[in-house]
Amino acid sequence: KQVTREWQPRQSVVDVGGVRIGDGSFTVIAGPCAVESREQMASAAAAVARAGAAVLRGGAFKPRTSPYAFRGLGASGLDHLVAARAATGLPVVTEVLTPGDVDTVAERADMLQVGTRNAQNFALLEAVGGAHRPVLLKRGLSNTVEEWLLAAEYVVSHGNADVVLCERGIRTFETATRNTLDLAAVPLVKSLSHLPVVVDPSHATGHRHLVPSMSLAALAAGADGLVVEVHPDPENALSDGPQSLTFEMFDDLMARLRRLAESLDRRLATAPSQENAANAG
Ligand code: PEP
Ligand code: MN
Repeated sequence: KQVTREWQPRQSVVDVGGVRIGDGSFTVIAGPCAVESREQMASAAAAVARAGAAVLRGGAFKPRTSPYAFRGLGASGLDHLVAARAATGLPVVTEVLTPGDVDTVAERADMLQVGTRNAQNFALLEAVGGAHRPVLLKRGLSNTVEEWLLAAEYVVSHGNADVVLCERGIRTFETATRNTLDLAAVPLVKSLSHLPVVVDPSHATGHRHLVPSMSLAALAAGADGLVVEVHPDPENALSDGPQSLTFEMFDDLMARLRRLAESLDRRLATAPSQENAANAG
C-alpha cells in the first residue's frame, strides 16, 4: 500500500551516504561479491571509484547455497569496507543476514542489503524496517512482482521509507543463464511503485560476458541504477568469479554507460567526494 504510486505519486529519492538514488541519475554500485581481505577490498574500491562508480559493494556476511562454501569474513569484512570507504569516499552497501546483525551492520555501512534468499524473511524485513539506514531489497528467487512489493511494504510499514528495489533475475526452467533477468519488471515496478529500482546483471546472468549488454539494457529500460560485481582477479575469487567483471571490463562498461546515458538525457551519479574533486579541479 505505502509503496504504491496511489499512496505517493511522486518518485522517491533514497540518499545513500550523499548519493541520491532515484533522482533521475543512474547510480552504479560496484565491487566484489565478497570481501576477501583488506587488500582485495582496497584494490577493488580504488578501481571502481576511478572508473566512476558511485557506491561500493562487498559482502561480509555471505548467504551461500552450500554450508561448506566461503561464508564471508563477518565483522572484520565490515572493517575492510569502512577502510575502503575512507580511502575512496564511496558509500558502502553490504548484506545483512539476520535480525541480530542489523545493528552491527548499520553502524558501519551506509546501506543494508537484504538478499534474494531472505527476501521473504519477515523478521529480517521488520528489523531493517526499524534501522536508520536505507535498504537495498533484492527480489526473491521465485517472487512475483506483487510478493516483492509486499516485502518492501514490510520495511516501509515498519518505519523505514528508504527502500531501493533490486531486480536480480528470477528462477525459471532456463539453466543456460544462472537466473532469468526480468527486465520488463523494471518499467512495470516503476509504474506501480514510487521506489527506485536498480538491476543486478551479475546474479541475473551468472556469466561476465553477458553483464555489459544487460547493464546497457537496464539503463535503456529506465532503471535507476545497477549493482555490478567486479573483482581484481575473478579467476581466483572466493565467490561468484564467473560473473565478476575484470577492472578492464568495468572501465569499458562505464564508458559505454556514460555514452548511452547522455543520449537518453541522463547522467551517471557520482559519489560526493568525486563531486568535490570535480568542483575543486
Ligand atoms: C550478492 O549480492 O552478493 C548476493 C548474494 O545477491 P543475491 O541475494 O541476489 O543472490
Ligand atoms: Mn555474488
